[in-house]
Amino acid sequence: MGRVYNFSAGPAVLPEEVLRQAAAEMLDYDGTGMSVMEMSHRSKPFAGIIETAEADLRELLQIPENYQVLFLQGGATQQFAAIPMNLMRNKVADYIVSGSWSKKAFKEAKLYGDARCVASSEDENFSYVPDVDAIEFSPDADYVYICQNETIYGTRYPKLPDTGDVPLVTDVSSMFLSEPMDVSKFGIVYGGVQKNIGPAGVTIVIVRDDLVREDVLPFTPSIMRYTTQVKAKSLSNTPPAYGIYVCGLVFKWLKEQGGLTAMKAKNEEKAAILYDYLDQSALFKATARKSDRSIMNVPFVTGSDELDALFVAEAKSHNIESIKGHRSVGGMRASIYNAMPKAGVEALVAYMAEFEKAHA
Ligand code: PMP
Repeated sequence: MGRVYNFSAGPAVLPEEVLRQAAAEMLDYDGTGMSVMEMSHRSKPFAGIIETAEADLRELLQIPENYQVLFLQGGATQQFAAIPMNLMRNKVADYIVSGSWSKKAFKEAKLYGDARCVASSEDENFSYVPDVDAIEFSPDADYVYICQNETIYGTRYPKLPDTGDVPLVTDVSSMFLSEPMDVSKFGIVYGGVQKNIGPAGVTIVIVRDDLVREDVLPFTPSIMRYTTQVKAKSLSNTPPAYGIYVCGLVFKWLKEQGGLTAMKAKNEEKAAILYDYLDQSALFKATARKSDRSIMNVPFVTGSDELDALFVAEAKSHNIESIKGHRSVGGMRASIYNAMPKAGVEALVAYMAEFEKAHA
């Protein structure tokens, strides 16, 4: 049927079973005689869709009762602004800058208050995560911000910072639901869904009750206030209804796969296939520091721009798509999210071995 192995960083591969189910339900969702795309977001069937999606997400991530789950729009980027606007009461926040996404979030927060970069790994092109134990956090910070998996540089935190009573905010866009996580360690867990969960257009924000407050920065637009969205159960205005429906299908798929513990094992196995190959290769080299490697995004290079370009150009004939690296790192990047089958990673490694034999 012409499906390729799609290594795109996002929007990215979705489970084939989910796409088939969405296709089967396209003209008639559950006997309603209409597509979810055509359905009022105030209708009973849609209420069932969003409530079930939330319940399944709560079950998958074991989200404690004192956290709200919001399905919003505006991408993770809108949260770069919404987080400081909603949380900056002392107007101080600490940012760990470990890549382009935390850097962007930091820059945005500076528009609203005293955002402080407390550690950065820009000195080595973000190829590692700063040592969280060496950081001195501001005692008066409203929150500490991290991007737990940096999509472009392929790093993830091997250890979380201990921020005491200061809420820790984490952007998990590129590792959402790839493994279990202890939500109770965070004030906010959020991310765009277009990498590991669903189609672009939905941002999931999981926010602790005490951070949903009326005393936000005064110019915060109503739509960006967590209070507004919590009161309206994410239906303050028309939500990205079809996207939420697909996320719900993915949550069911994840439960069928055995939940997040099973996903973690599968993801670690896939990542090991690729990293093991990279670590013994005479041609290809992984760019991120070994201790801080992501199991979702794997950037690698040959060391020659010409060979990198040739590898990318010839990938298509091996059924491999979107393997070109981000311009900040160059070379290649394989994003191996939940829905990437092991066979896809094996096909990539087989192609790499063939290429190495021809060009090393
Ligand atoms: N954070 C991370 C970690 C990302 O990878 C991305 C997108 N690639 C963003 C934030 C920005 O997300 P969006 O495009 O949904 O605003």
